[in-house]
Amino acid sequence: MQGRAAVNSAVMTTYAPSDIAFDRGEGVYMFTKDGRRILDFGSGIAVTSVGHGHPHLLAAIHAQVDKLLHYSNLYTIPEQERLAKRLTDNSFASSVFFCNSGAEAVEAGIKLVRRYQVEAGHPEKNRIITCSGGFHGRTLATISAAKQEKHMQGFSPLLDGFDQVAFGNINEMRAAITDATAGILVEPIQGEGGIHYAEPDYLKRLRATADEFGLLLFFDEVQTGVGRTGKLFAYEYADMEPDVVSLAKGLGGGIAVGACLANERASTGMAPGSHGSTFGGNPVAMAAANAVLDIILGDGFLGHVQEMGKYLKERLTALGEKHPNILKDVRGEGLLVGIGCHATNLDLVKAMEAENVLVIPAGDNTVRFIPPLIVQKNEIDEAVEAFDKVCAAAEAL
Ligand SMILES: *Cc1c(COP(=O)(O)O)cnc(C)c1O
Repeated sequence: MQGRAAVNSAVMTTYAPSDIAFDRGEGVYMFTKDGRRILDFGSGIAVTSVGHGHPHLLAAIHAQVDKLLHYSNLYTIPEQERLAKRLTDNSFASSVFFCNSGAEAVEAGIKLVRRYQVEAGHPEKNRIITCSGGFHGRTLATISAAKQEKHMQGFSPLLDGFDQVAFGNINEMRAAITDATAGILVEPIQGEGGIHYAEPDYLKRLRATADEFGLLLFFDEVQTGVGRTGKLFAYEYADMEPDVVSLAKGLGGGIAVGACLANERASTGMAPGSHGSTFGGNPVAMAAANAVLDIILGDGFLGHVQEMGKYLKERLTALGEKHPNILKDVRGEGLLVGIGCHATNLDLVKAMEAENVLVIPAGDNTVRFIPPLIVQKNEIDEAVEAFDKVCAAAEAL
């Protein structure tokens, strides 16, 4: 096995990858060339939602690859029509813009918010309020929106037009609204920031506030969407509807695809030529996303995610009580679960890798357990037992 550190790499140094390189996958497991079997509780950062090598997903991709790879949005793409119809039939939205990543989906949403206010006769309303601890991608607009110092450093000038308040505080949000505010952009559950969620009532009150001030409410569900939390969209838990939602990560099951969903009023300003993408909505990505939806919208699937999420949280909570010097608290919904740590999260993640289990660090010293949504109890047991061992070893230090 040749890991990254073993070669004189020509890949730009924006990452510091582990040495492990994978060769193939099956369900919730991946295998290295030399036969090491690794349990995947990271899903490539919440991407491989239906696991590795799912036969239905692979068959759909293969069938499309054999027909056509790409021909652009200058022509009708039936698989795109079908996916948009299914996403809107199952959500608040009335139309969908397709792109290739989460950041692009957020960018599309930012443009929608600004354009909406111009169309509504309020060109002076062009600022968007975001929340601290949030993450929206790594383009210039999305780092400007999230305002995380470590992501902005060295990249000035950033994009103007974003104000920021604390996550979960409705009074602070209301106080920040001015005559120049166009919309509100939040993650219903902050993923990269450390699996933080607000009081359930917060999202409802954001809706009421947006209505009161004539703003668009934009939820970034790039991580929480497409079944990850046990509902198709996380906003469903709050019994309310946003105006705009960005999706990506789990939508293609491992194929790059992003989507920006909007209701009627949020998309009124978008005429032919107002936005676009060369690759967005290409037939292969659409075939993959349609196959992922076949699985996730299938009978009982979201119930399975909820049940497994509950079991994972119960087992991690028990582990937290067993290792109070190492672990702090368990947070999350469905199979988007984070455990806050006293020990350094990166050390625990590294030690888990040595035990052949992948988990992912998140902000606020958190370890994320985000397995493929097809995970079963015995596989959760395997991950939790490895974590028990890792915590015990950390305690003995
Ligand atoms: C991962 C993520 C993004 C960025 O997605 P990319 O595909 O990396 O551009 C945006 N928003 C949220 C909430 C995310 O979790």
